[in-house]
Amino acid sequence: MEHVDVLIAGAGFSGLVLAERCAAHGLKTVVIEKRHHIGGNAFDRTDSNGVLYHAYGPHYFRTNSRRVREYLSRFTEWQHVTYRIQSWTHGRYWSFPVNLTTWEQLTGRQGSEADFAQWLEQSRIPCPNPTNSEEFILSVAGPEFYERFFHGYTRKQWGREPRDLDASVCARIPIRTSRDDRYLREDFQALPAHGYTRMFERLIDASPNLRLLLDTDFMDARRHFHATHTIYSGPIDAYFGFRHGRLPWRSLRFETESLTSADLIAANRSHISGHTDFWQPALQVNYPNDFDFTRIVEIKHATAQQTPHTNLVREFPLADAPDREPYYPIPAPDTKALYAQYKALAASEPSVSFCGRLATYQYYNMDQVTGMALHEFDRLTSPTGPFAGLVTVP
Ligand code: FAD
Ligand code: UDP
Repeated sequence: MEHVDVLIAGAGFSGLVLAERCAAHGLKTVVIEKRHHIGGNAFDRTDSNGVLYHAYGPHYFRTNSRRVREYLSRFTEWQHVTYRIQSWTHGRYWSFPVNLTTWEQLTGRQGSEADFAQWLEQSRIPCPNPTNSEEFILSVAGPEFYERFFHGYTRKQWGREPRDLDASVCARIPIRTSRDDRYLREDFQALPAHGYTRMFERLIDASPNLRLLLDTDFMDARRHFHATHTIYSGPIDAYFGFRHGRLPWRSLRFETESLTSADLIAANRSHISGHTDFWQPALQVNYPNDFDFTRIVEIKHATAQQTPHTNLVREFPLADAPDREPYYPIPAPDTKALYAQYKALAASEPSVSFCGRLATYQYYNMDQVTGMALHEFDRLTSPTGPFAGLVTVP
């Protein structure tokens, strides 16, 4: 049995940020990751044609947190991106998220912001406190946009009706009366200039007290270590041996397609995009009502990599199963009740921190998880934490 100060399960954002902080403060830190790579779901790599792509679906970094941005900027330069996407339904591409252009496409006539606002006022179904995603979208955008863009996509993505999901799920998508068609709202929108994996490699290289074990399951490996403190970023129900039953997760299958410039010409896609270098007209195209996949991402639109080849990732939502990865917690009243039971178990283990999207069953973005990890480190080194009194390293 080896003694370590900190034993960490998972080499995603949560695990690696906490590992770097602990190691930088002189704590002997071991990170155990069951996959063969670092980065968790933010992992990116190059395909056989040298095109950088996001292996687990699009990872658009965005944040309003200065602390998070400054922290990660130690390990990466940034490529600023305005994430713009489109939706494909009813046989055509639509400007999305819903904005003045979308409304003009719907009505077939030009109009002003005021015209659209007035139309929305008549169409929407007011609901002062929407409690689910159906009420939310109907109250801000009305039934036509709900049916066209949200109902089918949400059912496909979650395997549930929008009315059986918290309002916060569809509230992630902005609805604007202006022509602003940015997908995200946050001030800072950028990708790590050389990819997430490179950013994490630099973070690990900066940490001499950090040891990484890949291809290793924490549940098996932990008996070989005696740790002062443990940080767990895997699924919380698995940690407790599914004692209260399995939490519902949503899983996915990713289908990756590498295309050479010759493939693009053969597929005659240049007619659609206007660029022979791209397969589709935007970074991401959502398919609310067609096909079994929800979206196709062609990340080269965002990375701006100069190459004649390209890469597509299609996302097929799946129900969860013991042999499938849990990608999304499901934000809904019934799942919260079950998670509360696991949260109570977690509270009875003060020498373990449960951190990140899977361990707290929260639909968090990368910046939120990074902020959570930094905050957890503050707590661990606070006067009442297990590492109180550690010399502060910037
Ligand atoms: P993870 O990245 O899931 O890392 C947890 C790690 O723990 C994994 O590597 C896993 O293999 C490992 N692990 C689990 N159990 C064990 C075990 N028993 N032993 C050893 N290792 C274990 N966020 C954004 O900000 N922008 C986006 O555009 C965005 N898009 C997304 C798209 C998709 C399809 C998905 C699924 C997520 C997206 N996210 C996005 C969310 C983002 O992936 C998460 O916020 C972030 O990756 C969470 O980091 P984490 O470390 O908590 O979890
Ligand atoms: N959504 C939708 N139609 C779309 C895009 C999103 O109905 O074209 C809903 C859907 O329920 C989705 C949620 O909004 O799960 C959040 O979308 P986002 O793109 O933020 O999802 P993520 O990138 O986290 O998968």
